[in-house]
Amino acid sequence: MDWDSLDADKFRDEAGAIAGLLQAPPLSPDQRPAVVADAEALVVAARKRPRRRGVVESFLAEYSLGTAEGLALMCLAEALLRTPDEATRDALIAEQIGSADWARHLGASDNLFVNASTWGLMLTGRLVEVDEAARSDIGGFIGHLAGRLGEPVIRAAVAQAIRIMGEQFVLGRTIEHALARAAREGLSCSFDMLGEGARTQADAERYEHAYAGAIEAAGLASGGAGPQAGHGISVKLSALSPRYEATQEARVWGELYPRLARLASLAASHDLNFTVDAEEADRLVLSLKLLGRLCAEPALADWRGLGLALQAYQKRAPEVIARTAELARTSGRRLMVRLVKGAYWDTEIKRAQVAGRPDYPVFTTKAATDLCYLASAKALIEASPVLYAQFATHNAHTLAAVHAMAAESGVAIEFQRLHGMGQALYEAAAERFGQATLRVYAPVGEHEDLLPYLVRRLLENGANTSFARALTDEHIPPSVVAADPIAAVEAHPDRHSGIPKPVDLYAPERKNSAGIDLSQAVERQRLAGALAQVDREALAAGPAGESEPVRSPADGRIVGRVRPASSDEIDAAIASARAAQGAWDAAGGVARAQTLRRIADAIEAERERLTAILAREGGKTLADGIAEVREAADFCRYYAMLAARDFARPEALKGPVGEANWLERRGRGVIACISPWNFPLSIFLGQVAAALAAGNAAVAKPAEQTPLIAAAAVRICHGAGLDPRLLALLPGRGETVGAALIAHAGVDGVAFTGGTETARAIGEALARRDGPIIPFVAETGGLNGMFVDTSALREQVIDDVIASAFGSAGQRCSALRILFLPNQTADAIIEGLTGAMDALVIGDPADPATDVGPVIDGDARAALERHLERLRRDAKVVKQLPVPGVGTFFGPVLAEIAAADVPEREVFGPILHVVRYDPEQLASTARALANRRYGLTLGVHTRVEGFSERMRALVPAGNAYVNRAMIGAVVGVQPFGGEGLSGTGPKAGGPWSLTRFAVERAVSVNIAAQGGDPALLNLGPS
Ligand SMILES: Cc1cc2nc3c(=O)[nH]c(=O)nc-3n(C[C@H](O)[C@H](O)[C@H](O)COP(=O)(O)OP(=O)(O)OC[C@H]3O[C@@H](n4cnc5c(N)ncnc54)[C@H](O)[C@@H]3O)c2cc1C
Repeated sequence: MDWDSLDADKFRDEAGAIAGLLQAPPLSPDQRPAVVADAEALVVAARKRPRRRGVVESFLAEYSLGTAEGLALMCLAEALLRTPDEATRDALIAEQIGSADWARHLGASDNLFVNASTWGLMLTGRLVEVDEAARSDIGGFIGHLAGRLGEPVIRAAVAQAIRIMGEQFVLGRTIEHALARAAREGLSCSFDMLGEGARTQADAERYEHAYAGAIEAAGLASGGAGPQAGHGISVKLSALSPRYEATQEARVWGELYPRLARLASLAASHDLNFTVDAEEADRLVLSLKLLGRLCAEPALADWRGLGLALQAYQKRAPEVIARTAELARTSGRRLMVRLVKGAYWDTEIKRAQVAGRPDYPVFTTKAATDLCYLASAKALIEASPVLYAQFATHNAHTLAAVHAMAAESGVAIEFQRLHGMGQALYEAAAERFGQATLRVYAPVGEHEDLLPYLVRRLLENGANTSFARALTDEHIPPSVVAADPIAAVEAHPDRHSGIPKPVDLYAPERKNSAGIDLSQAVERQRLAGALAQVDREALAAGPAGESEPVRSPADGRIVGRVRPASSDEIDAAIASARAAQGAWDAAGGVARAQTLRRIADAIEAERERLTAILAREGGKTLADGIAEVREAADFCRYYAMLAARDFARPEALKGPVGEANWLERRGRGVIACISPWNFPLSIFLGQVAAALAAGNAAVAKPAEQTPLIAAAAVRICHGAGLDPRLLALLPGRGETVGAALIAHAGVDGVAFTGGTETARAIGEALARRDGPIIPFVAETGGLNGMFVDTSALREQVIDDVIASAFGSAGQRCSALRILFLPNQTADAIIEGLTGAMDALVIGDPADPATDVGPVIDGDARAALERHLERLRRDAKVVKQLPVPGVGTFFGPVLAEIAAADVPEREVFGPILHVVRYDPEQLASTARALANRRYGLTLGVHTRVEGFSERMRALVPAGNAYVNRAMIGAVVGVQPFGGEGLSGTGPKAGGPWSLTRFAVERAVSVNIAAQGGDPALLNLGPS
């Protein structure tokens, strides 16, 4: 089956998708009021039940995420128990406890455990000695708590409270406990083994082992009851491979599939329901391919328990159901399908915005998701008997509607709820409709694993659009809680007005750039086509004449040719630039903005081709190339916005009557732009666009290694209507062309990005120039550190360190060079990092599977090898990855060094230095880095805000990133640039980027000299 074609509708227009759903409403006009009446009755009955709330619901009712206490509890729950040391736990508790008003929750919940956690957190007299005064003023007591946190009993009490609370959200800490409890409570379950996704093969093995154990135990307990009546298991594929990604298909088949097949066979041997959970939208097609293959396994032929979860919030849901039914028919088997709304809604919205997707893969309104769920439910029921429908919901209307559809069709179905939720609702439903088949999704795991799960559930169900939240809020009338979503969509069939399409994220100021979705086969093929096309072309840079080859760092092939500019050509270019600049400057910021926006559009129109040139010439992976093309377009649009805002007209200034004062900004003249090879498109064009936006002409020297992409960019600029005299490409060496530009009397300013030493040399050369003193904007290197404390989440640290240190083969000035790990957690993190390094793909950057391409040339590699030699001698090289035989590759390295041995200067490539630190010595350890006097990027991983503040003060940096990767600054969102040895400012892509490219002229006119100030004389009576 052609699963890839499902991607055609991934970002389907929402209005069209909704119109399609409304065309054939899932409930008839007669059914709709009856379903609403049923749903209302369920709400009323559920609210009346004595045990009306599960613990999740009670928690939400008491500690809504809109309150300081709810957030504090969530933060504590997420981090406290995994934090090994007392000092950090105290800091965490102090920050969170101190931020909230616990007294108002005292005894307020009808759920014992939610109350117990309040009591625990309030640290009443039962846990610590509190005098009478404190008892009568418990709020004041809590307020003073921060000062007493050293007391072990308080720490223990809070930890215990969180533990008690957390335990309510799992059925058991082990599968045996969970099974025993299920038996006691008469539950039929689908067990979920908790944990974060695998980051290493060892993680994946561990999860496979845990799932296998659970299948064996659940199989024995089910005693051959079969997939409908017996227990089942839910499997997250992201737990079975560190690289469960569409771009890693070969690996998915080689590593993940065999694990999945082994688990499925085991489940089949016990005749259990085995459900593949639904994860992110980018993984949908891949998950269906895996399922398709399982369906074709002869050994699993007679098994009726294989299943999958389907998300109704995805616009593709109805199509996926149709395809799944076809799969079941063609493979001659019955599949079990759990219909959910979807647990990653906010993540999907964020990812689409960050990646510049054409739209969202999910609906933007809750009502549309509900409608799609009902339409999908109808389709599922109609697909019986090849599909067995399982409906996972805690929503009364959804439940009542599904019940009505199933009753009408006479098809046997199953409902599912999460442990800790929906119990009262399903009891009410059993009373009203009779007992239905009900399965409980039952998380099993230890404290460390369950708490992040808990936090996700709380976020998902604590949202104010959530049914669970509305049910618990007695102020919301049942008619509102149980309202018909079809009516809501009919009344407002539009997308959500507060969630703009990704392209409109920065509207009205500018368009967001568009990305390329590498998870789609069709997009990967388009890039392959662009690569083939580029390979056929004769790429060239510089004037015609005798030229030199430009070679690919990946395999040495000739990508194109370049001829360096001669000194006559430099003179001529500067002369024509000067001739054209006056008119360009006089045209004003608004006109210049239009040209820059056209350039941005033209860049995006050629994004596949530009990405291909970046891969061939610069050795950039496709993902890096796509991000770079986007950044280039963003620079043009952002500077267009600044030009139109700050250079459109003189700015009137306040002053005394009788005179007019204004300030205007004008271009300086001709700016020399000297850019590096590591961002040969975006920095090249970013400098040029800044110069042009401010009213200058630009003469641009690309790096020696990457003239072809610069030539392509210049052609695009000229093609988009920029007077060719305003932008000249002058390829050549720094020592010749670069030096000539800097010394040239016709140059009025220099923008440079590159090494600190080169910047210093340029600064000295400029100081020696005769004539006007001209500005020098330099962005240089960094010695960038990341500080992790013991509260940080291991998986998050691993992801962000790998991306920051080895992304772009470490050839970003923002890249992570030195990772500081606390002694307590260093071993576990280093082990995770080396495992995650093993999962990296090093190779041809033009292959979508590749994570790490080559370094730029032989010199760069030799410098890295020299540094590695030193590390082998003086430090501990923990790991180096192997590299392909051709090309200038350098395998990523992880080496441990002592704090005192922090490198003196930047080592530009994929070498990660790790320093273990004693938290007592943190300040002196940090100073070792700060004393190097760079100040570009800083990373911090912690759940303690105070730690983050402290690190930012100890190690000043132009760009600090907390709990995320420290690369990938976005234009206008994270203005980029450092201080100290890292650059002069102003930042690129920031609100003041253009200031140094402009002169400021203040004009003061004495109006009184002409006879008086008419504005003053014409003032009204009062
Ligand atoms: C047994 C079980 C198994 C599950 N397995 C999975 C799984 O494998 N994969 C998975 O992703 N989830 C899974 N879930 C989680 C499930 O997706 C959520 O619990 C479910 O969405 C909540 O739906 P509801 O009908 O109970 O609540 P409701 O409150 O009616 O719906 C909430 C849902 O609406 C959607 N939503 C919220 N706001 C918006 C908006 N503005 N625009 C569009 N949609 C919006 C979201 O999907 C949100 O989760 C499972 C849930 C259960 C009960």
